[in-house]
Amino acid sequence: MKRNDIDKKYHWDLGAMVDGNETFESIFDYVSDKLTTIEGYKGKLGERKAALECLKLVDEVSERFELIYIYSHMFKDEDASNGTAMGMSIRTDSLAGKFGAATAFLNSELSALDAAALDGYIADPEFKDFDFMLKEIVRQKAHILSDKEEKLLAMSSEALNTTYNVAHMLFDVDMKFKSVKKDGKKVNLTNESYGELLADGDRAVRKSAFNNLYDGYIEHINTLAANYAGNVKADNFYAKARGYKDCLEQSLFGDGVPTSVYENLIDACNKNFAPLHRYIGLRKKMLGLDKQHMYDLYVPIVENAEMKLPYEEACDIVKKALAPMGEEYVGLLGKAMNEGWIDVMPNDGKRGGAYSWSSYSAHPYVLLNYAPTTSDIFTLAHELGHCMHSYYSQKFQPYSKWNYQIFVAEVASICNETLLDDYLMKNVKDENVRKYLLSLRLNRFRTTLFRQAMFAEFEYNAHKMDLEGKPLTVDSLSSMYLDLNKKYYGADVISDDRIAYEWARIPHFYKAFYVYKYSTGMTAATSIAHNILANPDYVNVYKDKFLKAGGHKSPYDILCDTGVDLATVKPYDDAFKFFNDALDELEKLCK
Ligand SMILES: [Zn+2]
Repeated sequence: MKRNDIDKKYHWDLGAMVDGNETFESIFDYVSDKLTTIEGYKGKLGERKAALECLKLVDEVSERFELIYIYSHMFKDEDASNGTAMGMSIRTDSLAGKFGAATAFLNSELSALDAAALDGYIADPEFKDFDFMLKEIVRQKAHILSDKEEKLLAMSSEALNTTYNVAHMLFDVDMKFKSVKKDGKKVNLTNESYGELLADGDRAVRKSAFNNLYDGYIEHINTLAANYAGNVKADNFYAKARGYKDCLEQSLFGDGVPTSVYENLIDACNKNFAPLHRYIGLRKKMLGLDKQHMYDLYVPIVENAEMKLPYEEACDIVKKALAPMGEEYVGLLGKAMNEGWIDVMPNDGKRGGAYSWSSYSAHPYVLLNYAPTTSDIFTLAHELGHCMHSYYSQKFQPYSKWNYQIFVAEVASICNETLLDDYLMKNVKDENVRKYLLSLRLNRFRTTLFRQAMFAEFEYNAHKMDLEGKPLTVDSLSSMYLDLNKKYYGADVISDDRIAYEWARIPHFYKAFYVYKYSTGMTAATSIAHNILANPDYVNVYKDKFLKAGGHKSPYDILCDTGVDLATVKPYDDAFKFFNDALDELEKLCK
């Protein structure tokens, strides 16, 4: 459908950010003008007064710039064929580049000040809004080297960072796969089409997708192993050069997350394979398989029983499901649904998928492409979770501290999904829908919590092997991976030979120690939802200590304040319980 043919009640109203061309142009001019003023502070950040003025000015300009940047990009996302919107977004992209260049000196100049000077700023109440940011700079200083050494590292980085590009050249360009036969026709097999083919109801289709994809990787496996080994060596080189114990410590340092959180994730999963193995066994039984193979793990075990709801009914359900969040929260959901915060329906030229995005000085927005499916009800709850997290953080934190870090970015959204899941299981009577919902939950846990933890364990082992001087080769990497696969999935699935090479096709491995955040985020979110359901008073702790917290502290500390310490077993117990409950219920329904 064309955008104009869609009822306006399904359109968002971007006017809360920018109410027309004139405002857009005036903010654009204001920001462009101020860039020279900002650059005038270069070399002056050692003077307390100048530093404070500069930090305040940068925030003031950044806050206004955000408005036109986000406005123009959302305007373009409505319909990419709109030339005016496209023109505006290109102009703000270019201004973003100039803004970045004009403020680049800030961090390096502040980092270069001695610790006593920075401590002086931190102690000064006038710098209150910037204390966390300055403390972070002090914390990072321990790993900043001399000018000469930093220059060397910078010079080396282009050469040492080629492994990521090599991997993507192979993944995206050079590697070709044998096609797959489906319904008598040849289907192109690519990294993108693989997922859908692997979930195909026809076993021959998923088997040949699996075999052909891995055969494509195996053809380049020596190159892939050498390249990944190079990547691990570069990781370990930088960690050592900057005085970290290892790359794990370095990777988590930025978020202020202790390495015990990472080790605890791996440990907790290793102590809780039983429910995962039980799930894999249940799949085998439900699919009626004599032998279950790795290529059988993605086919749905329950026939699709969609809840085909019109958008308004989906909104009602989400509001009811989130009632444990309290009246104020549900009231805000109503506001978001009725006052133009959400762009609901798909239309020609609209950006696909869903997101929530916000500038500090206007309410957050949500983009959807709503279709009447079960998963889109979850998407609505998910995006509204981001939306409310932003809303509260904007309201209760100064500009400099409102943005939350990636480590906790998915907690509020998954928490809402969990509350919705719980509500539906308590209220939906149709047995097929119940089975379907349970199968979705089990699949979410398998692919997000367990699978990403297995990846995390692989990265942990690979970096350790390199530090211990053990060579990273096709054999050493693949046999280590195969052992992990067997350990995680258990005896009810055959760990086919080819799965040993799965490590070779995971692009995230070129950004070390990142994927664990999927597992910890889901665990924290499930634990919080569990606490909310168990104790109504806990909602206020969650709201005050988490939703309103933005990024005023390290994300790990924020979660600890919320009663969720990811270095302990409690959050994992809560998460595995939620998984186990679904297993019990599904087993009962299938008897
Ligand atoms: Zn999300």
